Amino acid sequence: PRPTTSVKLVLLGEAAVGKSSLVLRFVSNEFQENKEPTIGAAFLTQKCSLANKTIKFEIWDTAGQERFASLAPMYYRNAQSALVVYDITKPNSFIKARHWVNELKAQASPGIIIALVGNKLDLVEEDTNNTSSSNDADHEDDETEHSDNVEDTTNAITEDASDSDSDVETQSARCVALQEGEKLAAEEGLLFFETSAKTGLNVRDVFLAIANKIPDE
Ligand code: GDP
Ligand code: MG
Repeated sequence: PRPTTSVKLVLLGEAAVGKSSLVLRFVSNEFQENKEPTIGAAFLTQKCSLANKTIKFEIWDTAGQERFASLAPMYYRNAQSALVVYDITKPNSFIKARHWVNELKAQASPGIIIALVGNKLDLVEEDTNNTSSSNDADHEDDETEHSDNVEDTTNAITEDASDSDSDVETQSARCVALQEGEKLAAEEGLLFFETSAKTGLNVRDVFLAIANKIPDE
């Protein structure tokens, strides 16, 4: 039988970027639209079969501590691999990702394999399908082409109303360019993927790429 290698994997990144959702997609091939923040311990395992061996990922998800304080170094201390996740529609989450990469380089095991992951690619429609592009155009007209002679107060009210009508569309602008992620990954020697936990796009590829970089024992 093929040998099985166990690999500890941790997830780092700002709250709500989709860390738990990426794990759920990888482990169960599921997605939850309004996923509740993880409470308590979150430990899952999932195997990846390669040509000559099996990698058993021991995945330590944060239990939501990232919302309150910085994560304890003991969380990632002897991890062999890490996903540093950001949300491509949230610029601050990319700044945080940079911070996590630096912290891992300073504090984690020297050989740690780090994958930088820009998640929520489904919210950006540029390079996938254009089925709602006409809706987007209408929507932009509504929101941005109010001329200055419209009173500010009514303007604010209509914008609020249209926001609640189309939450997803208003959140869907890409704020972190593909090239920014690629550049950080190249500078720091990281694997890099843009993913969608919602559609599953590239999720398995992240874990497979890590599995393939695990040295033979
Ligand atoms: P975490 O705090 O980093 O673990 O983030 P969660 O996995 O709890 O996800 C936060 C929210 O983002 C939830 O409402 C998820 O349903 C949503 N979410 C996660 N991944 C994606 C994705 O790829 N696309 C979209 N559209 N929403 C996502
Ligand atoms: Mg979570």
